[in-house]
Amino acid sequence: MAIRKILTVPNPILKQVSKPVKTVTDDTRALMDDMLETMYNAPGIGLAAVQIGVPLNVIVMDLAREDEDPQPRYFINPEILESVDDTKPYQEGCLSVPDVYDDVERPERVKLTYLDYNGERITEWAEGLYAVCIQHEMDHLKGIVFIDYLSRLKRARAVKKVLKGDKLRAAG
Ligand code: ZN
Repeated sequence: MAIRKILTVPNPILKQVSKPVKTVTDDTRALMDDMLETMYNAPGIGLAAVQIGVPLNVIVMDLAREDEDPQPRYFINPEILESVDDTKPYQEGCLSVPDVYDDVERPERVKLTYLDYNGERITEWAEGLYAVCIQHEMDHLKGIVFIDYLSRLKRARAVKKVLKGDKLRAAG
């Protein structure tokens, strides 16, 4: 396993639309292992492959609280089959937009289908933080970052903040 570099806005790779995984192989699992390690190291609760520069429909997630054992989840080729009409705002953040948080309104519950670490199909409803996180990560697969939902002014401010942070990190 290896920690990979997480791309940040406004890197154009984050705008790419990811492609489906044809077959779940050891290479797919090696990618997911790297993604999970990168996500834990950040630390974050979700990561899409495109965020480390691999435009494939692969997501890792762990929603366990600090006092709980790790609960890694893997999603290959996820698709949303159904979502409820009720929406809820949630303050989101993103490893590709460090230190920026803002409310995004999304459906409260979604029914999704995906392949897991072993390539087995899972179909289930997601709600709460799980629903927020999977919709946020699946947006990455379409080239959408959560700040794309904010006003143009807020988005510009967010990108400026990230670029400034990059400079500080480079200097430090
Ligand atoms: Zn994100």
